[in-house]
Amino acid sequence: MDCIFCKIIQHEIPANTVYEDDEVIAFKDINPQAPIHLLIVPKEHVASIMEINDDNREILNKIIQVAQNLARQNNIDNKGFRLVVNTGDDGGQTVKHLHFHLLGGRFMTWPPG
Ligand code: AMP
Ligand code: ZN
Repeated sequence: MDCIFCKIIQHEIPANTVYEDDEVIAFKDINPQAPIHLLIVPKEHVASIMEINDDNREILNKIIQVAQNLARQNNIDNKGFRLVVNTGDDGGQTVKHLHFHLLGGRFMTWPPG
């Protein structure tokens, strides 16, 4: 499958990995939008949040747990951060493999662009 995140998961292309286990990988975004910008990605190819179902929704718990740990490790757990899932064309999703953006290290404005 021609999926850039599957290629990262299979170590076919390099990434700046900050966490990895059997189910999840997290790496630095190549085009960071904040001082801390990590992507938390399930290893199973799930195209978007709309493909979460009873068979795979456990992965969301795992991703939240990884997000909490990465927030603590990056010292943004108290100051705050943003956890973002862009979905579909209007949501600005460019990579069709589910991923959570963990953004922090600066104040995040609202509304988003
Ligand atoms: P989205 O627009 O929500 O689908 O987010 C996709 C994100 O993946 C963007 O923030 C890109 O900068 C990032 N990205 C694309 N290719 C790579 C890569 N090879 N390594 C790390 N991040 C990437
Ligand atoms: Zn994929």
